[in-house]
Amino acid sequence: MAKRFTVMIIPEDGENVRRLKVRRGLLTLAVTALLLFVGVFAYFTHSFYTLQFDQTELQRLRLVNSQQRHDLQRLIADVDLLREELAGLAETDARVRQLADIDSSPKAVPVAIGGIPESGNVEVVDQLQQQINQLQVAIDLRRQSQEDVRNLLNDQVSISRATPKGWPTKGWITSYFGMRQIPDGTGRRIHEGLDIAANTGTPVYATADGIVARVEYSKSYGKTVVVDHGYGYRTLYAHNSRNSIKRGTRVRRGDKLAEVGNTGISTGPHLHYEVQLNGVPIDPRKTL
Ligand SMILES: [Zn+2]
Repeated sequence: MAKRFTVMIIPEDGENVRRLKVRRGLLTLAVTALLLFVGVFAYFTHSFYTLQFDQTELQRLRLVNSQQRHDLQRLIADVDLLREELAGLAETDARVRQLADIDSSPKAVPVAIGGIPESGNVEVVDQLQQQINQLQVAIDLRRQSQEDVRNLLNDQVSISRATPKGWPTKGWITSYFGMRQIPDGTGRRIHEGLDIAANTGTPVYATADGIVARVEYSKSYGKTVVVDHGYGYRTLYAHNSRNSIKRGTRVRRGDKLAEVGNTGISTGPHLHYEVQLNGVPIDPRKTL
């Protein structure tokens, strides 16, 4: 390539053409300088717009962050409120357990988180998640506890309903539970029930909920009904003139079983009423 160039400047209005003699090195330098200038200019322009954009984005993010902190604060307040409510429930639960005589009480409710530290939201979100998990566990415990109490109360109601209570018929006691002279003159023997005198046909009622276990006739007891109440309790109603229930019938306290009579070995119309606990006759007078 040539070492020198001639740059011709030709004016439009016909003045003399001007010639510039330029060395190759100088031309290269000029072109490089121009390119450099364009490059630097482009770089700064780009930086400027990027900065402008970043500034806008930063402002937007600051706003979002502030909103999120606000939301987080509200969430913490909500969780705290839940925690307090649960603490109240736990207190009630503990009292109920105490009344119901259930000793072991489930664990306490988790503690509060407090405010958001400057260190950042991530920690708080973690804490919040932990709190929510703990609350979940506390709620499950509470549910289990209430289930315990309900089962216990159900059991107590069942036991109460299955325990013989009250008079099986309207009448007056003519013979008590315990040792006594036998009417047929064979000597003293334990009397395993209570004799309640009443007119023939007077209704005989179940003294507790249960299932009719036996409806039968025996030589000594005559027409008899036996009710099984569960929990070890059985009641027996003897000397009836008539049994008015079938074996296997589910009965409630107060349901009619039979009518008073004089069947079997008996000296007059009366009900022989027995209460057995685990197969052993107990004094029915204590249950009237
Ligand atoms: Zn008797």
